[in-house]
Amino acid sequence: MNQALDTYRHKGMRQKLVDILRDKGIADERVLTAINAIPRHTFMDAAFLEHAYEDKAFQIGEGQTISQPYTVAYMTEWLELEPNMKVLEVGTGSGYQASVLAEMGTKVFTIERFRKLHEKAKQQLYILGYNKVKMYFGDGYEGIPVHAPYDRIIITAAAKEIPQQLLKQLKVGGIIVLPLGNDDDQMMVKMTKTGENDYRKEIGDNFRFVPMLPGKIF
Ligand code: SAH
Repeated sequence: MNQALDTYRHKGMRQKLVDILRDKGIADERVLTAINAIPRHTFMDAAFLEHAYEDKAFQIGEGQTISQPYTVAYMTEWLELEPNMKVLEVGTGSGYQASVLAEMGTKVFTIERFRKLHEKAKQQLYILGYNKVKMYFGDGYEGIPVHAPYDRIIITAAAKEIPQQLLKQLKVGGIIVLPLGNDDDQMMVKMTKTGENDYRKEIGDNFRFVPMLPGKIF
């Protein structure tokens, strides 16, 4: 990582954020270590610099948000990641979640439907040195079939139903985590693919995400 972007002050604020996440119930120390390593403030507009390590979501343009750190930690923990796994993220947004996945040693493929956000996130991850992350501009409903199957899939936008194309791109034994529900309220869902057409479903806490929408915006 490019150390010049980070300062001791930011590191201190980040350590406090990690303590808050631990207090809120995040138990996977590997997730907390990754969050502790990544300068979240560099993913955000300078106007939010003082707030970058609060446990809150912030605007990133195009009406989209960088998720709340607790939400990122919760989903990442639920993915049960192991190094070298192939992970598909739908909804690159700022690129922050993708950097957390990369920091945990996984092979990350991420897709975003807004060209502007895709370009910005690409530049950001390059600056931070996460240049192995494969970043795509396109409609996440279609997944990224050329690199399938994936060990893990994470959708960081609210889906009304689980996209079938994504289930197809999941390995048997793989896990998909997504916020499922209407625009105002979703529950976190984890589906483990136990056979070609069999799944085990677990339901977690309630969250509020921006919606998953079809098509791409140039
Ligand atoms: N993971 C992001 C948070 C993203 S907010 C981060 O760490 O910053 C959700 C993102 O999902 C938005 O950028 C939105 O444009 C994107 N999105 C919504 N529907 C999508 C789709 N069908 N394909 C790809 N991206 C989508």
